[in-house]
Amino acid sequence: MDDGKETPSQSTEGKAVGIDVGLTHFAITSDGSKYDNPRHGDKHHRNLKRQQQKLSRKQKGSQNRTKAKQKVAKVYSKTARCREDFLHKLSRQIVNENQVIAVENLNVKGMVRNPKLAKAISDVGWGMFTTMLKYKAEWEGKTYIEVDRFFASSKTCHVCLNRVDSLSLDIRQWQCQHCGTCHERDVNAAQNIRNEALRILSLGTSDTAWVGSVRQPGKTSVLLDAVPVESGSPML
Ligand SMILES: [Zn+2]
Repeated sequence: MDDGKETPSQSTEGKAVGIDVGLTHFAITSDGSKYDNPRHGDKHHRNLKRQQQKLSRKQKGSQNRTKAKQKVAKVYSKTARCREDFLHKLSRQIVNENQVIAVENLNVKGMVRNPKLAKAISDVGWGMFTTMLKYKAEWEGKTYIEVDRFFASSKTCHVCLNRVDSLSLDIRQWQCQHCGTCHERDVNAAQNIRNEALRILSLGTSDTAWVGSVRQPGKTSVLLDAVPVESGSPML
């Protein structure tokens, strides 16, 4: 069974990684790595609130108000710098370690319109992260690919492609009723993103001349003519 870990045996072979976005974890990869969400916004939130309160008490047009405004701006820029630093380091590491980097196309703007997710998504900076992955990959002649967000990465068993009807957000682990594999929700999603990307690349839809050097897991070809078997709700 393919555990999602590929060891390049030759320099011509590349490793492919799928990355799923999380809120409890910032990112989860198909090889099972989880990167914590640093929640820079939360960390600086209290400080920001305090400075904003101070600002609201200053008289309009006063010099103290100008100073208070600068303090608020300083908290904002510090938050942004910390977040960017984290995103730069993580994207650098992932691009260094892989030849193909696959993410789910989340339509971040659309998600931010959902008030429940707005703060968390803006805070984790997913859009900025994928931008960094993309240009860093391109600089090094590696492939960055986005998989359609309507592709049901969470609900599909990456082993047998059985798809469950529903999988509520609080279910973090599930067992496939078809093949019996136990899944960690986010890791399974990342593996599906990776497999879907390899499938798309193997179809040669874009300039992917080097793609032949990427080792394709045997099951990837199964995806082409697989008929998902619908079953009931997942077992916990
Ligand atoms: Zn299965």
